Amino acid sequence: MASASNKRVVVIGAGIVGASLAYHLAGQGAQVTVLEAGEIASGVTGTSFAWLNTTHGAGDPIAHLRGTAIAEYHRLQAELPDLQIRWSGALSYGVEANGMPPATLVSRGQIRKLEPNLKHPPEQAWHAAAEGALDAVAATHALLAGAQAHGAQVFTYTPVLGFLLQGSTVTGVKTATGAIAADMVVLAAGTGTARLAAMLDTPLPVTASPAIFIRYKTANDLVKGILSSPQMEVRQGADGSLLAAEDYLDDTPDNHPAAIAVRTAQAIGHELHGVTAIETELACVGWRPMPADGVPIVGHLPHVSGAYVCVMHPGVILAAVVGRLASEEIITGKAASTLAPCRPDRFSPHQIRLNRHRGQP
Ligand SMILES: Cc1cc2nc3c(=O)[nH]c(=O)nc-3n(C[C@H](O)[C@H](O)[C@H](O)COP(=O)(O)OP(=O)(O)OC[C@H]3O[C@@H](n4cnc5c(N)ncnc54)[C@H](O)[C@@H]3O)c2cc1C
Repeated sequence: MASASNKRVVVIGAGIVGASLAYHLAGQGAQVTVLEAGEIASGVTGTSFAWLNTTHGAGDPIAHLRGTAIAEYHRLQAELPDLQIRWSGALSYGVEANGMPPATLVSRGQIRKLEPNLKHPPEQAWHAAAEGALDAVAATHALLAGAQAHGAQVFTYTPVLGFLLQGSTVTGVKTATGAIAADMVVLAAGTGTARLAAMLDTPLPVTASPAIFIRYKTANDLVKGILSSPQMEVRQGADGSLLAAEDYLDDTPDNHPAAIAVRTAQAIGHELHGVTAIETELACVGWRPMPADGVPIVGHLPHVSGAYVCVMHPGVILAAVVGRLASEEIITGKAASTLAPCRPDRFSPHQIRLNRHRGQP
């Protein structure tokens, strides 16, 4: 076994969550190897709206994690000059969940100044000045470049096919090109995580939850910040494109991503001035890794040693803070109390029976 700081850690998955873990682990001296089945950020990270917000409902068990998400991204920006984040602020109306601090209620006059292209500004809206968005693919590359600067190795088109085990200890992973030994294996494989955990006899209830991502080419910039209303959720992309996120409805032709993109474009034209041309560049379904209870699953896998899991929604928002906290746990062995609600053993049959007995869900 290596010493605490130069542990050999294999991170499975090069989405934004795996990339953040790799960066934070390598920065603390771990010997990190990232294994990715496809291209970097080819999972759901590649089709993320990537809005960095701190929105949460009352009684959210991870309110503290969400609350620190923006500060953690400011820290990362200071550490990684290539990490570009547009702190544009976000305007929300008619969307209940966004009426939360630290947003402030603004009047129609203020809304007109914030988003001059709105044709029908409401009487009031919530404005979260501290929020922003990033290009999740570029951010993943920036994090991995940061990890590589600390000595990490990144292998694309290298799916993990199985695990090396000594008794109940994971000692590495198997790939088509050979085995890689590790003191710790981190499962950060998005919707592929449950399949990997099942290989270690640990059922993890993570489903693939669909959402629609759309990228439009427009003649000019239409919005200044992030705009979220019942009609649309839009923002400008780094390259001047207009990005939108929509709910997935079903797989009928009427609700195919291309059809939803057409309807959303009509809504945008109805809601915004200046839409002289709008052309769909990309409309697709992204599959978000969704833990059954909506709470991230972060921590050592129960029943085996040498394996740690990191899967969550919203993964872009949480990647910075969870990447730091999880890497510190892996390196120091000291549990972070903020991650207590996220432990994977909450899904073990014993824990479920105990919760029922205590009257907890
Ligand atoms: C339309 C839409 C809008 C969204 N908006 C937001 C938002 O505003 N804010 C937010 O925070 N989140 C948002 N999300 C969700 C966010 O994109 C995800 O939570 C986040 O990208 C998850 O990152 P990840 O690294 O866990 O997963 P992924 O990006 O899927 O990465 C996992 C990687 O693991 C790899 N992998 C899988 N199995 C293996 C294996 N066996 N071996 C090796 N590699 C493997 C995959 O190829 C993949 O690249 C949105 C998603 C969608 C679709």
